[in-house]
Amino acid sequence: EAKNAGRGAFRFYSPGMNEQVHERLVMVGALKESLDAGHLQLHYQPQILGETGRLLGVEALARWHHPQFGQVPPSRFIALAEECGLIEAIGEWALCEACRQMAEWRAQGIAVRTVSVNLSPLHFRNSRLPAIVAAALEASGLPPEALTLEITEGVMMDRCEATLATVEAVAGLGVRLSLDDFGTGYSSLSSISTLPIAEIKLDQSFVRDLQSDKNARAVASAVIRIGQSLGLTVVAEGVETEPQRRFLQGLRCHAMQGYLFSPALAPKDLVSWLQRQDPGQAATEVAAVA
Ligand code: C2E
Ligand code: MG
Ligand code: MG
Ligand code: MG
Repeated sequence: EAKNAGRGAFRFYSPGMNEQVHERLVMVGALKESLDAGHLQLHYQPQILGETGRLLGVEALARWHHPQFGQVPPSRFIALAEECGLIEAIGEWALCEACRQMAEWRAQGIAVRTVSVNLSPLHFRNSRLPAIVAAALEASGLPPEALTLEITEGVMMDRCEATLATVEAVAGLGVRLSLDDFGTGYSSLSSISTLPIAEIKLDQSFVRDLQSDKNARAVASAVIRIGQSLGLTVVAEGVETEPQRRFLQGLRCHAMQGYLFSPALAPKDLVSWLQRQDPGQAATEVAAVA
């Protein structure tokens, strides 16, 4: 009877709910452990200039391989990190690691012009962010213009003066700001006129539908024209096919990124990819940096 009463006390948790809560706790613990142990990695996806086919820069994308859970996609662990308060630690790690890697490449004569790091909108609520970015630059010796920070319109969501001041202070360091997933939020146009950005990234949903949907074509060409008239770099995301590339190039889209060129690669694979693309370019850049 005692056992039954005990069970009754917990009746309003379904066993399924308990499992979910438990699994979340386990994942959060594992994520924190992996972060502390240096087991998260950054992979780098090339961004290709439309006109010349050369490299604009690379985007750093976090990868988490856990011995028990396997490869966990960023869509899952970034959301988890945002909920459990780990996102700032991940952002700081990504900043430092991307700057360190870029400085190492430069020292080896592999001249990648800029590395883009994704930061959560939540991170911009911390007024210490400009100091954190400055410290990452200083520790690596990387010049600010070699760092691009990708933000989303989520930054504007709370319409908070302090947040905007933080964004402006970060831009004031000389780093480039890029507006990610452009066109998907509810305040895209007000974001480009309010935020001190250098670049917009046309969301991959528009690129995906270029062939099949004339509305996607209209949005893509409007975004590229807005970027051109504001003097911003426009990067199209998720370019997978040759017809998509041709269409975007016809609109004189500055740069493209997607599986057509390369997925995100581990650092050593990115270096081989660069050398395969254009051994001549790599050689010139070795000379230029030396
Ligand atoms: P995002 O910043 O918009 O990154 C682009 C995503 O599209 C990446 O997914 C990339 O691997 C994927 N992608 C690239 N080319 C193609 C393509 O041709 N086709 C398709 N279908 N997808 C393509 P990933 O790496 O899974 O990252 C997903 C999202 O997770 C990112 O979207 C970003 O919002 C977030 N994320 C990743 N790393 C970090 C990080 O270090 N910090 C933060 N805060 N967020 C991150
Ligand atoms: Mg991004
Ligand atoms: Mg994006
Ligand atoms: Mg995205």
